Amino acid sequence: MKPFAYQRAEAADSAVATVARAGAAFLAGGTNIVDLMKLGVTAPDLLIDVTGLPLRDIEALPDGGMRVGALTANCDLAIDPVLRTRFPAVALALLSGASAQLRNRATVGGNLMQRTRCRYFVDVTKPCNKRQPGAGCAALDGEHRDLAIMGAGNGTDRPARQPLCIATNPSDLAVALALVDAQIELLTANGPATMSVHEFFRLPGDRPERDTNLPPGALITAVVLPATPIARMSTYRKVRDRSSFAFAAGSVAAALDVRDGIVRDVRLAYGAVAHRPWRAYAAERLLRGQAATVDSFERAADEELAAARPLRDNAYKVPLIRNLTVGVLRGMTEASW
Ligand SMILES: Cc1cc2nc3c(=O)[nH]c(=O)nc-3n(C[C@H](O)[C@H](O)[C@H](O)COP(=O)(O)OP(=O)(O)OC[C@H]3O[C@@H](n4cnc5c(N)ncnc54)[C@H](O)[C@@H]3O)c2cc1C
Repeated sequence: MKPFAYQRAEAADSAVATVARAGAAFLAGGTNIVDLMKLGVTAPDLLIDVTGLPLRDIEALPDGGMRVGALTANCDLAIDPVLRTRFPAVALALLSGASAQLRNRATVGGNLMQRTRCRYFVDVTKPCNKRQPGAGCAALDGEHRDLAIMGAGNGTDRPARQPLCIATNPSDLAVALALVDAQIELLTANGPATMSVHEFFRLPGDRPERDTNLPPGALITAVVLPATPIARMSTYRKVRDRSSFAFAAGSVAAALDVRDGIVRDVRLAYGAVAHRPWRAYAAERLLRGQAATVDSFERAADEELAAARPLRDNAYKVPLIRNLTVGVLRGMTEASW
């Protein structure tokens, strides 16, 4: 491991000014960045430990929303009674992540900034466009069972070229935040700023080295969950190779409002299918106003998954996500009877 300096942040603005310099990085729970430093995937000269900053409050906002400090531990947020009532999908997504020990240490901001688990990204002996732009993508013809089926630039949007990166975003929390249109509060070198979760995450396009649109050196200070009545009836279901301590093979976050057998409103977001959490807008559009039946749920999932461009070994994700969508919506419909 390359030697590095360590400093505790005294204040958020000075921490941002320091990390805006090349070679410095924030340290929160350390559950991702330290592993990547040991593997040689990242090698900052200086770690600024932000865990002493006062960014751990969980506030229930009077309008029905919530504001969560970026340094809140995943375990503390997951068990918050207001979160579990107003945004159960967010609590379930957190509880499905990692292990209890990791959730005690991992923070909300760090979870959103964690890097992909693509095995070629974390193996410095293999070419990876995300780690080293222009190096190539060993996953395309290699082990890509866990990797993206949507939005990688393969297929219709760039038919003449291979995608540059088929990494997936590993965060469960991010999928639930996409469901509720969360806002990310930041402190940048130019002052406070806010981005929607949809602007924050990105597809790889021609710049796969960038996971997010976070301005360089910016600190995530909080995540705001806007008041979302439909989110009270929301859930998160994750499929993985073993029942604990594993990243998703595929996941679905869903919120549903069914009255008199008709879908009044619905939201859907998919995890482990793309470089970003994938909001299933096409499926949502098709479902609104339709009968809440298995047939409608299947047609909606098919509509969304028409954009999938699976590779040799990850085509199983298409029926996986389809079945998850139908199963989750069916269960929520029956629960609303
Ligand atoms: C074995 C294992 C299994 C896991 N399984 C899952 C899983 O199933 N689902 C899941 O979602 N996650 C999973 N994780 C990931 C885990 O949840 C993340 O490692 C954790 O959330 C990262 O948070 P942290 O505070 O430790 O971040 P750190 O490791 O401290 O930081 C991660 C990155 O975020 C940056 N950063 C941290 N805080 C901020 C901030 N406030 N503003 C800007 N940048 C910041 C750091 O500079 C670094 O680049 C797993 C991890 C491990 C090791």
